[in-house]
Amino acid sequence: MMKKPIPRAQRDRRGDTRHADPSAAPACDQPMVITSLQNERIKAVRALEMRKERKATGLFVAEGASVMMMGEEHDIAPELVVRLTNNPDEPKRTQAFCTWAMERGADVLEVTARVLGKLAHKDNPQSLLGVYRQRWAKLPPLSACKDTDLWLALEGVRDPGNLGTIIRTADAVGAAGIILIGTCCDAYTRESVRATMGSIFSVPLVRVSQQEFIAWCKSWPGDVVATHLDGSEDFRNVTYRGPVLLMMGSEGPGLTEALVAEASKVVRIPMNGTLDSLNLAVATALTLYEIRRPHL
Ligand code: SAM
Repeated sequence: MMKKPIPRAQRDRRGDTRHADPSAAPACDQPMVITSLQNERIKAVRALEMRKERKATGLFVAEGASVMMMGEEHDIAPELVVRLTNNPDEPKRTQAFCTWAMERGADVLEVTARVLGKLAHKDNPQSLLGVYRQRWAKLPPLSACKDTDLWLALEGVRDPGNLGTIIRTADAVGAAGIILIGTCCDAYTRESVRATMGSIFSVPLVRVSQQEFIAWCKSWPGDVVATHLDGSEDFRNVTYRGPVLLMMGSEGPGLTEALVAEASKVVRIPMNGTLDSLNLAVATALTLYEIRRPHL
């Protein structure tokens, strides 16, 4: 349930104008153009920058038509669309997307470039963004896991850019989902969502405590693979017995001993040079591709 809804346009018209004759009675089928940053709905969208607000509302922001259309492919509609008003460059496909979203119950707000500029990412501002409901899955019942399944478990991942990149890579190899263990960064930050390039809509995400994860993985029917700098086996020389549960450690301390103890295989990615370790997203990509090699 939505704890703190984005206030409806009808409840707050501060700073708003309408396309049509402003003296005419408001017509609900005409788009409202929001010009003010003080508009309550705009303030509510901006507040989703804060983790506590995303947690309280269960919502998040996705930016850009291409990302939002990935949601459409998975039949996931936004609750709210924010769109640049009077945009002569708006592609027809975006218009069709807005129609589809409205049919699914989304509100569409038209805003000025100034308002959109405050909502959109500074580096690559988009003319369309959406407010979506976060989706969290449960740990899958082990009886439902197929031999070809690959689940990825991340312990204490800290960097939202890494997490988003990993979600995208997990999608690319057809992983069944990602389990976030313990205290992790928020998968629904703007940075993470951007890095997923739309895969946020297709990869199931699960959140669990370390204790819950350990209790669940004890009966895992295939290999539980830990990646570790001191791994006994080169990750390229291992035969992985499916279904595979791959565990990756955090950017800082790596995998905890408690999780390594649950592994049936502990693998390392060989490195030359003077570096300590690979970046988490890079190490995850290499290992995912190696495990999935027979299926790709
Ligand atoms: N300082 C950590 C340690 O001593 O384990 C390294 C953290 S590393 C940046 C983050 C994660 O990426 C590790 O926990 C591991 O899962 C994976 N990783 C990075 N380089 C690796 C390598 N060469 N072999 C195996 N796993 C690696």
